[in-house]
Amino acid sequence: MSDQIRLRIQELTTQINKYSHEYYVLDNPTVPDAEYDRLFRELLTLEEQHPEYTDPHSPTQRVGGEPLAEFEQVTHKVPMLSLDNVFDDGEFNDFVSRMRSRVSLAVEDAIEYTCETKLDGLATSIYYIDGKFTQAATRGDGIVGENITAQVKTIPNVPLTLTGDYPRILEVRGEIVMPLNGFNAYNENMKKTGGKELVNPRNGAAGSVRQLDPRKTAERPLAFYAYSLGECERLQVPMPESHFERLQELKRWGIPVSNEVKKVVGTQAVLDYYQDILSRRAQLTHEIDGVVIKVNDINAQQRLGFASRVPRWAIAYKFPAQEELTVLEGVDFQVGRTSAITPVARLKPVFVGGVTVSNCTLHNQDEIERLGIKIGDTVVILRSGDVVPKIKSVVLERRPENARDIVFPTHCPVCSSPTERPEGEAILRCTGRLICDAQVRETIKDFAARKRMNIDGLGDKLVDALHASGALKDVSDIYTLQSRDISSLEGQGEKSAEKLLKAIEKSKATTLDKFIYSLCIREVGESTARDFAQTFRTLEAFQSATFEQLFDVPNVGKVVSQYVLDFFADEANMALVQRLLDAGINWPEIKEVSADEQPLLGKTYVLTGSFNTISRNEIKALLIGLGAKVSGSISAKSDALVAGEKAGSKLAKADSLGVPVKDEDAIVAELKGFGAI
Ligand code: NAD
Repeated sequence: MSDQIRLRIQELTTQINKYSHEYYVLDNPTVPDAEYDRLFRELLTLEEQHPEYTDPHSPTQRVGGEPLAEFEQVTHKVPMLSLDNVFDDGEFNDFVSRMRSRVSLAVEDAIEYTCETKLDGLATSIYYIDGKFTQAATRGDGIVGENITAQVKTIPNVPLTLTGDYPRILEVRGEIVMPLNGFNAYNENMKKTGGKELVNPRNGAAGSVRQLDPRKTAERPLAFYAYSLGECERLQVPMPESHFERLQELKRWGIPVSNEVKKVVGTQAVLDYYQDILSRRAQLTHEIDGVVIKVNDINAQQRLGFASRVPRWAIAYKFPAQEELTVLEGVDFQVGRTSAITPVARLKPVFVGGVTVSNCTLHNQDEIERLGIKIGDTVVILRSGDVVPKIKSVVLERRPENARDIVFPTHCPVCSSPTERPEGEAILRCTGRLICDAQVRETIKDFAARKRMNIDGLGDKLVDALHASGALKDVSDIYTLQSRDISSLEGQGEKSAEKLLKAIEKSKATTLDKFIYSLCIREVGESTARDFAQTFRTLEAFQSATFEQLFDVPNVGKVVSQYVLDFFADEANMALVQRLLDAGINWPEIKEVSADEQPLLGKTYVLTGSFNTISRNEIKALLIGLGAKVSGSISAKSDALVAGEKAGSKLAKADSLGVPVKDEDAIVAELKGFGAI
């Protein structure tokens, strides 16, 4: 038993040392932080239970990583420590109880805290002597760091001179981060130019600052935020005895401090702060991996003191991981409406980013090659904000011997027709277009969707069941469905059948743009369908349009024009459209509009954030009514960003692209000016 424990401690030490080296020295981690934290905790627990095996060189006795030899070394006068961390409310309560017992505080004595966001970047010390920026250093191993004075000098928000009544010697400690918009723009640019992309903003920041050539650092988007003081020589005026007030002092001297810093009293207020920041995590301008809670009273901090590598008066309350490890157990191939065969990863279920993930798309062969992934591999899953989960990388060192290559099918898994991968395309396709059940089913589901024919109640499961029973062979069969076709299915009754038939009847009254969108012509999205309807005004004109006429439509390219031509050149499609019209689908005539009626024709607006006096959908509908196009993503071609409250990254992007921003008052005034409201 004891041998087993000793071996496990050795194993953990070797693994943690390897991961620390990759993270702190190479700025290139191969496993998620959550995995590192788990191993670290396991080692801590084993050492606590078996102090006889504790080694003074254990990673649990150390802060960070060795400083890089290429940099001049700086010895910290006051050591730069790490933080202990907790992962749930119970662990936070334990931390509070431990503090209370150390300083004999009763439960009813509420503790005042400063709550801060836990910035995910590189810990840095900056010295100001006589108000002048003189030296910057990394935390390194906590005792000795790297001299990065020239590099930090290039960071735009680091003041080179202080203002006000600053101390003669001031060491400010904080984090250098890479803001998300800068990180994304940098990686976009690397993708275009074939350069090396950054793994994540944290390692991007650390790698940028530790460039030997400061001109390279200057090219990277970086920012600094202070969260504490190190050495401080205050000759005349004493420093405030509160951590929060000290941060306010730093601000007064011109040093950037995060706007999210808050002073609160008691445990519940801390937990509320945690929830509030967690709910806004995706909207913040830079990445954070939790919140940091500090006892506010400096005297109490001194009484609580330090453990070997962490203060006892502060704790990091970490957020649920956005990156986790799991295993690729298999790959399924799904056939979509447009004949594309998509590889879908079947994963060992894993809790990440607040949800359990058991599958995610692998996109195509190119993506599989880029990842170098095999079945059986341990993979890193990323899920941040509401974004769909994706496989970020493979942990090669954990590849089992029996890992298998992912082989694309030569025949469609649904209809057995041969598959093909057209020249120059990344996507594999099924060639059995009309006979492929998967394509037919997916087309029917899309046809009935809310933004298309909007048939309430005709969901995915019902389409599958009606298709399997033979009642729905193509979309036009929707309009010949009988009550018994539906009520005879398991779980359906006469009432639900009546309801669905009513919804089908109701869907017949539509608009031309919705009908065009419902035809599911490749690459014809909602707004392109609207452009076609506005331009041609009748289905006949659209159906008989030439390539040139189609290509002439605003925002329509050659590929879409060709797809439309191909669609209507197919007799089966023409017959289907006729059957739909015969079933009674109809729409109001579209009148020619004058420029007066559509003053925003040709303009593109982007909406973001939430609005108080008018809903986002209303603004969208009114803008479209005035002829504008409303797009979901911002680009240099956008004419305006309409930004409500809590607008996120789009605001910064509009700023960097020089796109004018309109707030709620401005857009309401504009709409009123056009007489739209
Ligand atoms: P830490 O990052 O968990 O916490 C301490 C650090 O938090 C401080 O040094 C400081 O830089 C930073 N910080 C951010 N905001 C702060 C604030 N408001 N107040 C005070 N400090 C603040 O600890 P660490 O020792 O730097 O690193 C350990 C962590 O690094 C691990 O928990 C893991 O997440 C990650 N790590 C990952 C790997 C990997 O392979 N993926 C390897 C090593 C470390």
